[in-house]
Amino acid sequence: TAKTPLTVLGLGPMGQAMVTRFLDAGHPTTVWNRTPSRADALVAKGAARAATAADAVAANRLLVLSLTDYAAMDDVLAGVDLAGRVVVNLSSETPGKTVEAAARLAGRGAELLVGGVMANAEMVGHPDAYVFYSGPREVFDRHADALAVIGRPDYLGADHGLAQMLYQAQLDVFLTSLAAMLHGIALARSAGVSAERFAPYLSDNVSTLSMYVPGIAKHVDSGEHPGDLATTAMMGATAAHVVGASEAAGIDAGLPGAVKSLYDRAIAAGHGKDSFTALVNVLRG
Ligand code: NDP
Repeated sequence: TAKTPLTVLGLGPMGQAMVTRFLDAGHPTTVWNRTPSRADALVAKGAARAATAADAVAANRLLVLSLTDYAAMDDVLAGVDLAGRVVVNLSSETPGKTVEAAARLAGRGAELLVGGVMANAEMVGHPDAYVFYSGPREVFDRHADALAVIGRPDYLGADHGLAQMLYQAQLDVFLTSLAAMLHGIALARSAGVSAERFAPYLSDNVSTLSMYVPGIAKHVDSGEHPGDLATTAMMGATAAHVVGASEAAGIDAGLPGAVKSLYDRAIAAGHGKDSFTALVNVLRG
């Protein structure tokens, strides 16, 4: 069967990986990027080069955007006729801005499908890669087969903000975890232990974290936080030790300090004997 032709605007590492997968899957693909040279290798692989963003948009109804944020979309699409177009924006953004963008695009006769790509450039198209989508269901259904080339499409609902809310929730954990790993490594190195020597312990620690997820979910959804095996008071004391160890080693204590502050506030709110999952109660306001 004929593969849907489409246009990709934005050829950073992610856009380039997506175009390569679309070409491999047989989709006629038109490309455009602000810095034109980023299209060269893709054109050599068979992509059609559009001279301007307007030409790229005119070429196909289905537009896939991979830009820094939604302000970049406004720049790229300024003054371009969007009537009848489907904009699948896979750029990172706050949920609120995606909702505003959907209204602006609707005013120009275009539909928006918001996507959050849960894969890095190397993982695009890999069986473990998936993409959160939100926006009109029928728009998603119409294009799900083509979009599956990037990663397994996971449709969340009609609210345009949903895909970016879950994407940012995942990036929240990801970015904080990466920073925490570097912080732990800095502590080890301050004692003369190289990152490579510390690495196996770190890997073990990080891989056991997922073990906590089902229990966390159960406690948070039920609102009950039994602290049978470990209490917020005990873990709050440990959080203070991480801060103390960091300060003594001359290492920025901002990250563990933020964690300690959550424990302090949970304990002050009476959760000292509860599980650490009671921290969820002080996260709001
Ligand atoms: P890059 O920052 O490398 O590329 C950004 C793209 O946006 C480039 O094509 C750039 O054009 C374009 N751009 C930015 N601002 C403007 C503007 N004002 N006008 C026109 N074009 C503009 O990003 P990535 O490819 O790494 O990422 C793309 C999106 O995917 C981001 O939102 C990112 O958060 C997300 N993402 C990235 C992942 C990764 O591992 N890299 C993983 C998952 C999601 P130019 O080439 O001219 O600078």
